[in-house]
Amino acid sequence: MSFASQNFAPEIVRALDECGYEKMTPIQQKAIPAARRGEDIVANAQTGTGKTAAFSLPIIQKIADTPKPRKSYTTRALILAPTRELAEQIARNISDYSQYLELRVAAVFGGKKMSSQEKQLESGVDILVATPGRLIEHLDLGNLSLTNLEFLVFDEADRMLDMGFISDIRTIMSGIQGHPQTMLFSATFSSLMNKLAGDITNKPKRISV
Ligand code: AMP
Repeated sequence: MSFASQNFAPEIVRALDECGYEKMTPIQQKAIPAARRGEDIVANAQTGTGKTAAFSLPIIQKIADTPKPRKSYTTRALILAPTRELAEQIARNISDYSQYLELRVAAVFGGKKMSSQEKQLESGVDILVATPGRLIEHLDLGNLSLTNLEFLVFDEADRMLDMGFISDIRTIMSGIQGHPQTMLFSATFSSLMNKLAGDITNKPKRISV
């Protein structure tokens, strides 16, 4: 199945073309239509399956379809990742996919100056990729509000739990009002992971690849 069958904006199709993507991978075939319909997703998928495009393309398309003025210290989409390297990789991919659209993508993670990240948040972003610990530092300082969040993604959620981020995740969830469209990706499902998935998603489409 090709990306063209998903009715993506020509700007996105052109960017995917330049990335060399022709056909959707299995996770993309299963997740993209459900995410485009606004459904929550709980997916069992390994690294390297194309999951980044699976969750980010529907978010990019929906944000492009519903333009809103950017508000200081807010983001429309939040993507949580366990490590700095993964957060940087996801942000790079999203910047590539959205290069012909007017989206603002930022990443916040430990090991970089808070002040430069704060500056990016100050002007408001559309899609923010973050590691949990650094995100909480910004939330505590009032550098970010999650009250208007529309999309929430947990990538490599099992690694986040293995790294002891469960209480950070609960803290982050307590700052969110309403129910953003939520997608969780994990390579493994323990009982704690199933409990987390049940707590944070609403009638999710379950996907396994
Ligand atoms: P990910 O699992 O998201 O880290 O993706 C793994 C690799 O596959 C990355 O290098 C992506 O750029 C690439 N990729 C993702 N989707 C596709 C696709 N539909 N066709 C070709 N390559 C892809």
